[in-house]
Amino acid sequence: MSGKRIGVLLCALLTFCSALAAEPIRVGQFAGATSVRACLESPEFRFADIVWDKNSTNWSYGQWSELLNHYQVVVFPGGSGGEMFSRLGHEGQRAVKDYVNKGGGYLGICAGAWLATRRYLGIANIEGIAPWYVGAGGLEVAMGEEATNVFASALYQAPARRTIEMHNGPMWSFQPPDRARPAFHVLASYTGRGGTNKTGGEFFKGKPAIVTDAYGQGRVILFSPHPELVSTNGNGNMIPEAVHWLVNTPSDPGTRMSGKKPRDNPGKAGGRPASPGSEAAECTANSCVVAHEGGLPIIISAPHGGGLAFVGADVRKGGGGVRQFAVARDVNTDALALELSAALRRETGKAPFLVVAKVSRKYVDLNRPENDAFESQNLRGAYEAYHAALEKYCREVSQKWGGGLLLDLHGQGVRSDSIFRGTRNGATTALLLKKYGDQALTAPQGLQGLLEAKGFKIIPSCASGKKESWFDGGYIVGKYGMEGSYGVDAIQLEFGGVYTANRKLPETATALAQVLSNYVAAHFPPQGQ
Ligand SMILES: [Zn+2]
Repeated sequence: MSGKRIGVLLCALLTFCSALAAEPIRVGQFAGATSVRACLESPEFRFADIVWDKNSTNWSYGQWSELLNHYQVVVFPGGSGGEMFSRLGHEGQRAVKDYVNKGGGYLGICAGAWLATRRYLGIANIEGIAPWYVGAGGLEVAMGEEATNVFASALYQAPARRTIEMHNGPMWSFQPPDRARPAFHVLASYTGRGGTNKTGGEFFKGKPAIVTDAYGQGRVILFSPHPELVSTNGNGNMIPEAVHWLVNTPSDPGTRMSGKKPRDNPGKAGGRPASPGSEAAECTANSCVVAHEGGLPIIISAPHGGGLAFVGADVRKGGGGVRQFAVARDVNTDALALELSAALRRETGKAPFLVVAKVSRKYVDLNRPENDAFESQNLRGAYEAYHAALEKYCREVSQKWGGGLLLDLHGQGVRSDSIFRGTRNGATTALLLKKYGDQALTAPQGLQGLLEAKGFKIIPSCASGKKESWFDGGYIVGKYGMEGSYGVDAIQLEFGGVYTANRKLPETATALAQVLSNYVAAHFPPQGQ
């Protein structure tokens, strides 16, 4: 579906249509050492570097203002805060401050975060503290309670911990320099874990790492570390989420409905203001499934974790020719899929193949045959997108590695401390068992054996030797794993809440990734080597 048609569809559905324009958010970035462009590779962002050359300091206030007015958000990236400040020149500095004061969004990373402090532009009520050169390295940050005001993803909300590269980023005083202005908000703080080439992590412990502030009508978000760097995969989505917050729209891409609109309560930088559409999180056929290629023989599927309503369809009511019908969400399995993907990247440097539903199961059940999956024909595209991605990725993995694992992630409420294995009692893992023997999964060096050694409680356990009875494998593992027709093995994992609770997700994903990366390296070497 084209962007134009989505806009028309939205407008047909929404009575406040005239206030909404489904245009991309215009983001500009000043030239600098790092780029956020790769983090914003989506049709919903229009991205342009801001022209900046040696002569820029000679520009007039009017020239700077005209340039800045092309963008809803400007990014000041890594580099040197002092250099950017002098390159802007007096007129440019004044223009940036006025731009934010009138409602423009300011995203500063590292040097760009320095630039916003009192020492330079002063658009954030925050001050950097010595020493200036604290080194480079991976530092862990703990997301705080206020992160939820900016970030929609569970990955970036308390009590999640993220390791982010930091390159001489600013250290900040807790004291706002201007007591007359409201204090800045701390979204994340360094935990003291990790370290740089100059100093151990202890030095950073407790210091603010990500902060927000308001300046007049505009919003400001500052990152001391570099979430946009490829070397800190899994943090890059902080950038688009921050951009959505800066322009005051819901931060899930599927929910965004307007380009720019007046800020309702600009003074409340810590709160997510009520705005039309922000309550009803929605998606469309081309935004309701996340799918991306990988570089590992692992395909992660999460069909039941989505929470978004589908634009132009009613929730399912069952009946008719539908045989099986359930609408419960497998809470946090979407976040688990993303977190596992990030953890595998950390372990191996490569991503798995990923297919994750953002649309709620109330509209379409992607783990059913097509006839039972949806009632509104508007959902056909979503269903086909999910399965086309799975089919393509299975064939690609089979071709490149001579086999691979499809992991279909679900949640169950029967045993919160356990994970149910579903392989239709070996039928969906027949290739693996044929190649490596009956015990390929349940021997001590089998996948489940290794997972149990890591502390995962799996039903039926290896020791019991019992057959799968509950959750023994649904449509997805059946379709892609049975009879070897797609050349991969498929395992359904039904997680209890102990593993998928927000505070446990990083731990669960890291442990899974460590086992999986070793297992696939041993069992599915690249072909031709
Ligand atoms: Zn499920």
